Amino acid sequence: MYFYDRTISYRAFLAAVERMSAFFAEQGIAKGDRVGIMLPNCPHYVIAFYACARIGAVVVQVNPMYTPREVEYTLNDSGAKVLVVLDRLYTPLANLASLQALNSVLLASFGPTAPDADTPESVVPWDDALTRDLEIPEPAIIDPSEDVAVLQYTGGTTGRSKGAMLTHENLVANTYQLLHVIGSDVRGGLDKILTAIPLFHVYGMTVAMNMAVFTGASMILLPRFDLQELLQTIKQHRPRFFPGVPTMYVAIANHPDAEQYDVDCIEICNSGSAPLPVEVMHKFEKRTGANVLEGYGLSEASPVTHSNRLTHAKVPGSIGLVFPGTESKIVDLGTGDDVQTLGEIGELVVKGPQVMKGYWNMEQETAHTIRNGWLYTGDIARMDENGYFYIVDRKKDMILSGGFNVYPRDIEEVLYQHPAVQEAVVVGVPDEYRGESAKAFVVLREGLDPSGLEQELDDWCRERLAAYKVPRIYEFRAELPKTAVGKILRRALRDA
Ligand code: ATP
Repeated sequence: MYFYDRTISYRAFLAAVERMSAFFAEQGIAKGDRVGIMLPNCPHYVIAFYACARIGAVVVQVNPMYTPREVEYTLNDSGAKVLVVLDRLYTPLANLASLQALNSVLLASFGPTAPDADTPESVVPWDDALTRDLEIPEPAIIDPSEDVAVLQYTGGTTGRSKGAMLTHENLVANTYQLLHVIGSDVRGGLDKILTAIPLFHVYGMTVAMNMAVFTGASMILLPRFDLQELLQTIKQHRPRFFPGVPTMYVAIANHPDAEQYDVDCIEICNSGSAPLPVEVMHKFEKRTGANVLEGYGLSEASPVTHSNRLTHAKVPGSIGLVFPGTESKIVDLGTGDDVQTLGEIGELVVKGPQVMKGYWNMEQETAHTIRNGWLYTGDIARMDENGYFYIVDRKKDMILSGGFNVYPRDIEEVLYQHPAVQEAVVVGVPDEYRGESAKAFVVLREGLDPSGLEQELDDWCRERLAAYKVPRIYEFRAELPKTAVGKILRRALRDA
């Protein structure tokens, strides 16, 4: 592991995991108990995560960007007994009832820790926990298909956040599948994994962290996405594997002098979490020489279920083939029956060893999401004659305009092809006449003036899209709101 000027060997990492598992055991954590981890990417996260796994405790992923209200909900809902948190994130949370009720708070810090005199005894600095003279517990005996390793909270943007219960088997299976698909011939290519996607999100947890530990690769940990820092890190470490999200590839593809940072060392990228516009893929590949493999997944599937593969032809705009050991099909949006015609659009459903056990304490939601062993993804997709899948859009993002279904992604792809556009997102807004209509939010390439561009983009879209899809409104923004993992926050724009 690399973290700024620190290098941690696997030997030191294992020793720290053992010691941390002893600390958790001392705090009363036993198999099945929940431990919240609220940290950005840093060695403490990785150590705490595997310390939990070692004793069979369940990691509760707590997004470091959560507000106190969201932290309170997550801790209460999961019934966590301990929270591992970065010192600077702890202060605004200190008085929460759910925090006071914990057995202890483990305070991680990027620098040396000097606890305040008035810090309660239940708040333990990381170094203190790690250096306690404790007996190292035996690893727990795990039933891989039953025992939950992680509660991955999801869906907060649309309602009550649900904890997807991911078992040990789910996580191991997905890591195995991923390795198989990326290709054993690139085992060496994983020697350094640029880890800029957050580990508290399921994508980073599996594709960067579990992959690294599984293969013995090194992670280069970046606690946040800062383009300049990312480029400097590439130059310094020359990683060959860079799992990322489209917004990261957009940023690098549009950087005025990315070449100065030796970005051509990157050979393989895995893009997931959100659609990768074809134009962005081409631009990024042209600048870096990397091969970007788009994949698809969701928290409920640990996460990856489909991906383009090194061993098969790549189809830009597609999420590739279904993973080995996983089944996938398209079902009618209304009836839930299998679609009858190849290429027909419907809801994507999947079945496989990476699919969660269910939602934590939410039987109804579980029964609604997993039916007859099939996970209903809530995404609209189609499959071609070669078995490649295409995400058309999310069910909830679809715009109903004048009786037509409009898929924002169709419009976004067209906007991305315009040379002035750096980023674009389309949402449905109320329209008295049509019910809803499309509104485009656009970030222009640096230095460009939006005057006159609305007309130009309108002409551009009219030439390439059916009239009912053409955005009625354009809004130019300096940047777009993003989630912690770098997805564009459509909801915030819809409500704007
Ligand atoms: P939250 O948990 O905050 O509500 P979320 O609903 O985005 O976020 P995740 O599990 O993080 O939940 O993301 C899964 C979703 O991301 C998928 O259902 C799909 O809509 C989208 N997605 C992932 N990969 C792709 C891809 N390659 N193309 C299009 N969409 C994708």
